[in-house]
Amino acid sequence: MKYRYRLEERRERRIGFIRLIRRLALLALFGIIVYLIYLYAGGRPQLTQKSLKELSYLPASRRVNIETTVPVEAVTLYIEGEGKKVEVYSKKFAPPVRSFSIDINARSLGLKEGEAKLRIGLSSGFLRSKEYSIPVIIDLTPPKIEVVSYTQNLQQGGTGAIKVRSEKDVELELHVGEKSYAFYPVDGIYYLTLFPVSLEQGPETALYVEAKDKAGNKISQSIRVNIKPFKSKVDKIELKDDFLNSVIYPLLGEEGKGLDPVEAFKRVNEIWRARDASVLLELGRKSEPRMLWDRAFLQLPNSKVISTYGDVRLYFYGGQQVSESRHMGYDFASLSRAPIPASNSGVVVFARPLGIYGNAVVIDHGFGLMSLYGHLSEIHVREGQFVKKGEIVGLTGTTGLALGDHLHFGMLVQGHEVNPVEWLDSRWIDRRIIPVIQAK
Ligand SMILES: [Zn+2]
Repeated sequence: MKYRYRLEERRERRIGFIRLIRRLALLALFGIIVYLIYLYAGGRPQLTQKSLKELSYLPASRRVNIETTVPVEAVTLYIEGEGKKVEVYSKKFAPPVRSFSIDINARSLGLKEGEAKLRIGLSSGFLRSKEYSIPVIIDLTPPKIEVVSYTQNLQQGGTGAIKVRSEKDVELELHVGEKSYAFYPVDGIYYLTLFPVSLEQGPETALYVEAKDKAGNKISQSIRVNIKPFKSKVDKIELKDDFLNSVIYPLLGEEGKGLDPVEAFKRVNEIWRARDASVLLELGRKSEPRMLWDRAFLQLPNSKVISTYGDVRLYFYGGQQVSESRHMGYDFASLSRAPIPASNSGVVVFARPLGIYGNAVVIDHGFGLMSLYGHLSEIHVREGQFVKKGEIVGLTGTTGLALGDHLHFGMLVQGHEVNPVEWLDSRWIDRRIIPVIQAK
């Protein structure tokens, strides 16, 4: 009897224990479900791909911009290398943020060049945290470049050339005042580019080459140049109704409906002109990284120059000045429908109508140099075709913004129209451009 009772007691105790375990298990399961819902609703913070990439190379000093998938409340960043662990950053954010920047000054933190581990901990609240361990390359050495040769004597509206020697994996840019131009690689260790100096860039314009390595170490080297001022000719032009009716309105077509004569002229002279300039700028990015041309560029044979580069044109209507523009090329007049030879060898990159230029052809000569032929009555080449210097590209005409039959001849450098007079002059080419291209 006594024994049975004890057996019963033990069984009950066991059942009680199992129940307790079962309850605890249910509670734990409930907890896990709640946590999963919590994670699902908010998510754990993660670094974006861009941020992971930013953190894989570190220069001597850099501001790193970090983005996370969800807002974070706290961040810690350590760098481990050669048995040393250095705290770089530790911060709490209230309210939480999705992007922040960290100034990492690897040199003053005493970090050594080479491979290291970067540990970054992100927290978005209770049980919502993530830690990353990212292999990082620390590079404290700025890139080495050497300016081998460049055109020292420049003119407003003209062209220059520059050649730089650089180690691999370095991004190079030439800055000319506010503008910047990419280089073209040549022979593995050299980088070359042609660059325009605009009519607005005076003798005080600063020129420098900027080099950036993979880690982000930057150096810049300024170059000394002389920029000769350009004197513009100013023409005053009275807009006649006859011209507006025979050229401007037909050119605008549907777009000219409802526009008064001044509005119609401004639409072509200002809006179309700006749009054409951006098409040419875009085209300028597609130049071959090799020299396809040889010696001086050809003028239209047996032609007279009727307009030069940089001419300012002030337009009047009924005695009032209504618009102005600059002529960015040379106008050559010959017989009407005169055959136009390619000014130099290259690849046709454009052969179709282009706003004020009418039927236009653009030939790429390499390293950012192109020639432009406008107002053609007929185009005889197609895009992608290689043409030899002297090969006929079309016939002169009056398409686009043109009065009489003539050729608008433009030279483009990195998509900007420069003064063609330099490129028509073999002495200028031999003195200012060829020595730079050939320099070692
Ligand atoms: Zn012209």
